[in-house]
Amino acid sequence: MEHPENSGEYKGLIVNQGIEQPSSVSPYLKRKPKRRKRSVAEFVEGIVKGDVTVLSQAVTLVESVKPEHQIIAQEVIEKCLPYSGNSIRIGISGVPGAGKSTSIDVFGLHVLAKGGKLAVLAIDPSSERSKGSILGDKTRMEKLSVHPKSFIRPSPSAGSLGGVARKTRETIVLCEAAGFDKIFVETVGVGQSETAVHSMVDFFLLIQLAGTGDELQGIKRGIMEMADGIVINKADGDNLDRAKLAASQFRSALHLFPMPDSGWTPQVLTYSGFYNIGVKEVWDMIYNYIDFVKDNGYFEYRRNEQSKYWMYESINEQLRDSFYQDQRIQTLLQEKEQGVLRGNLTSFAAAKDLLDVYFRQLRQ
Ligand code: GDP
Repeated sequence: MEHPENSGEYKGLIVNQGIEQPSSVSPYLKRKPKRRKRSVAEFVEGIVKGDVTVLSQAVTLVESVKPEHQIIAQEVIEKCLPYSGNSIRIGISGVPGAGKSTSIDVFGLHVLAKGGKLAVLAIDPSSERSKGSILGDKTRMEKLSVHPKSFIRPSPSAGSLGGVARKTRETIVLCEAAGFDKIFVETVGVGQSETAVHSMVDFFLLIQLAGTGDELQGIKRGIMEMADGIVINKADGDNLDRAKLAASQFRSALHLFPMPDSGWTPQVLTYSGFYNIGVKEVWDMIYNYIDFVKDNGYFEYRRNEQSKYWMYESINEQLRDSFYQDQRIQTLLQEKEQGVLRGNLTSFAAAKDLLDVYFRQLRQ
């Protein structure tokens, strides 16, 4: 081979022809074509056709905090609105360990046995605080997660509880437009999040456990008042009697509450999600309620009230964001807070000063 070092000058040295090195990139690797951005019309068309991939991508936009995503998301939601509303929306709440995932798995299969499609959404305030979500893991619902007619979406994690809840409500619209006629909204029973879920569902189901005999003490009155049905889970084996006792305690406690606006007296049932006992009765109760409130007009009334609620919530949230994200306000906040803590300024004067600055700025 021709090479300067192969001349007679360099004895004992032969330079061989090298071999071409293979590419370090696998030739079989197909370059993924960059996904073309979908237009609003394409999103809407895909969703209305029931395409779950398009639906998931739209939900991702809804959840995104980027303004350019929000613009598209809002347009998609608006165009999907006429196709939405045709579902029953069930809120399911209970403390961690109450058996929500186990129950939703069997509830889901139960409602799907009649046909239709089910979307399971979640509102999980813990995902915001700890970044770890209690309700985030899809595999918690083993059977449902592989069911072809189900769509499970973990809780959106960005922003305040109000923000998270708003995104879930918007996702409901998209799911309904995609033909999901049953919507479950799951939440951890730890306070505020129930109010948010209650404000977007037709039936609010509270899952309770029989415990130490003083069940009622741990549960906040407000949450009980919200419930359209209370169910005591794990009514199986040794626990059956305690579950029945807990149910009767809840029943008598409910008697003390005024009749809800729906005209429906909340019922208390026992069941076992794990052993699939009493699940049919729970759903018969829910379907009875839906028939009852559809007949007396409360179904429509509640949905209208919810729409109004979300309008005001949305205004409140945007005003709050606009205020707290304002640069001048952010700097001044610290200063005023210190003033209040040192006792130089009352809380009200501090708030007034800050709001004055904010509103003056708006007028400029
Ligand atoms: P979540 O935190 O509310 O979602 O609760 P899980 O569904 O994860 O259930 C918590 C634990 O309770 C798990 O170990 C379940 O197996 C168990 N569990 C759930 N439902 C039942 C039931 O009906 N009976 C019994 N005995 N155990 C149950």
